[in-house]
Amino acid sequence: MGELGLGREFHTWHEFSCFFDEWCERHKVLFIIASLKPLVSLRRHPLHAQPSLAETLRFRFVRLICKHSGTYVGQSTVQRNRLSEKIDCPASVTLRLGPKKDRLVVIEASLEHNHRLSEVEFAHYFKRHQLEASMGLPIRITNSVSKRFLAPDLVWNLEDYSKAKDKGMCELLSQLDGLFKSDPGAKVKLVFQEDVAVLNSIFLATSHMRSLVQRFPRCLYMDRAACVNGEFDLYSVLCEDANGRGRECAYCVARRGVPDLVLFIVASLVQSAPAIKLQVRCLTVGAGVTDVDAVEEVLPCARVQICRLQVLEALYRKARELAAPKEDKVRNLLHNMANASSPRVYSQYLSDLEDAAPLAFLRYYLETWHHNKGMWAECWAFERNRDCPFLEHMSFHRQKLCSALGPPLGLAACVRGLLDLQALRVEVAALNEERVSDLYRAACPPESAALVAEELGLAKHADYRVDEVPDGFLLHGAGCSFVVSPDLAACSCSIYVSSRRPCRHVFAARLWTGQPLYDPGLLPSPRGLEGQDTS
Ligand SMILES: [Zn+2]
Ligand SMILES: [Zn+2]
Repeated sequence: MGELGLGREFHTWHEFSCFFDEWCERHKVLFIIASLKPLVSLRRHPLHAQPSLAETLRFRFVRLICKHSGTYVGQSTVQRNRLSEKIDCPASVTLRLGPKKDRLVVIEASLEHNHRLSEVEFAHYFKRHQLEASMGLPIRITNSVSKRFLAPDLVWNLEDYSKAKDKGMCELLSQLDGLFKSDPGAKVKLVFQEDVAVLNSIFLATSHMRSLVQRFPRCLYMDRAACVNGEFDLYSVLCEDANGRGRECAYCVARRGVPDLVLFIVASLVQSAPAIKLQVRCLTVGAGVTDVDAVEEVLPCARVQICRLQVLEALYRKARELAAPKEDKVRNLLHNMANASSPRVYSQYLSDLEDAAPLAFLRYYLETWHHNKGMWAECWAFERNRDCPFLEHMSFHRQKLCSALGPPLGLAACVRGLLDLQALRVEVAALNEERVSDLYRAACPPESAALVAEELGLAKHADYRVDEVPDGFLLHGAGCSFVVSPDLAACSCSIYVSSRRPCRHVFAARLWTGQPLYDPGLLPSPRGLEGQDTS
C-alpha cells in the first residue's frame, strides 16, 4: 500500500476504509469524520440511475479530521470534568467524488499534527471498521447537537443524513419532527457518544410537561421507570400536582451504563424550565439510581433523598441473598435504623447490627448505605413524619407506561408511546371522582353536590386536546370546543353559563393543569346564586 496523498483514488468506500484503517495504524493517528455527504441525496433524487454505485461508493464528500481538531465551546456543566482533548490540531483529509463520478479522490491531505502521536492513546481509541460502519451522521454535528436542545431544522438536517443508512434513526427523527410541528416549545436533546455517532440518550420534555414542573417544582421524583429494549432504559421525572397526583415532567431514554446520567437529566430539566432552579426543595430518587453526587450543584436549594422503602427492600434482599443467620433480627434492626427518630437512635441500632449481622452483610451495609444514611433515614429526612409519595407516584406512572410501552421497543416507537401518554384522556381515566365528590358533599348543599358529582363523572370521559391560549384553556373535542377561563373557574359552555356551577370542562382543565379539583370557591355562594341573573 502507498501513501495518502493528493489525487489518490478509491473505487469503493470499502477500499478507502480498509486503506485508511491500515494507514492510521501505521502512523498511529486517530481521525474522526467531520462531515459526510451521501452520494445520492434521497430527498433530492429518490433512488435513481446508479443504485450499485450508491451502495459501493456511498458518499460524494468526506472530510476527516484529527481527533484533536477543533475546540470545545459552550460546554454544559455535565461535561465540565472531562479534560479537553481538543487542541485545534490542523490535520485533516478530504475526499470528493471525482469528475467521472465513479470514484473518490483525495483533494486535501494536511498530515502534520500539532501534538505528539501517542501509541498508548492510539491503542486505547482506535477501532477498525469504524468508517466502514459509519451510518452517515457526521461527528461534527453529533458532537455539537449533544450539547444543546435540538432545533427543528437540525432534525431535518439529521434526517437527511440518516436517510442514507439508518432506518431506526430516521424513524426517531421523524417522530421528533412531528413533535416540533405540534409543539414548538418541546425541549429535546439527542446525545451521541463523543466522536462516534452512536446515540446514547434522548431527553424529552413537552411544553405541557415543562409548565407542570414550573407550577409544581417543590418536590421531584426520579427513577428508572421501564426497560425499553436490550440496550435502553427509560428514566422519568415526576412532580406532584395540587391534587396530589404524580405528573410526568421529563423523560430520558438512555443507553445502559452511560455515565453521569442523573446529572444530565437534572441539568437538562433545569435548562428546559430555568425558573425551577432555586425552587426545587427535594429530589427523591429510587434506590437503584446511584450517581447523585453533583445534583445539588444544579439544584442548589434541593435535598436529594433516596426512597426509604426501596432502600429497605434492597437491604432485605441482600440479607436473604447472603443467607444471614438471624435474618429476622437483622431485618428488624434495619427497619428501626431506617425509621430512627434521631441520629442517636440510628447509631444505637447500628451497633446492634454490628453484633447481629454477618461480616459480609455488614461490609455491604457500610459501603453502600451507611455513608449516605442522610439521604434515606427518617431522622435526616427532608420532611419528617410524612409518608413519602415516591412509590405511589412511580407505580401510578408505571401503570400508565404499561399501556403505552410493550418492550422490546425501537426508540421511535418508545418516543411515540411516551408522547401519546401526554393526553387528557390518559389523566382523566385514573381520576377517582368519588373522592372529590365526597369533599363537595361534605361542604355544600345536597343538590349542588349532586350536580357537581354528575359533572365530575362526565369529566372522567373527557377526551379533548387542551391548549393554553391567551384567554385561558381551549378544549377541542370532536366537533366542539370550549374555553375555560385562566383562573379555571368559568367556562364558555351552556352548563356553566346557565348554572354558574363548575362544569366537566372546568374539572378536566383543572385535572390537566394540576390545579385542585376540590375548591369550594368554585360554587356560587347562596347570595351569589340569587344575584346571578344580574350579571
Ligand atoms: Zn492531530
Ligand atoms: Zn364547560
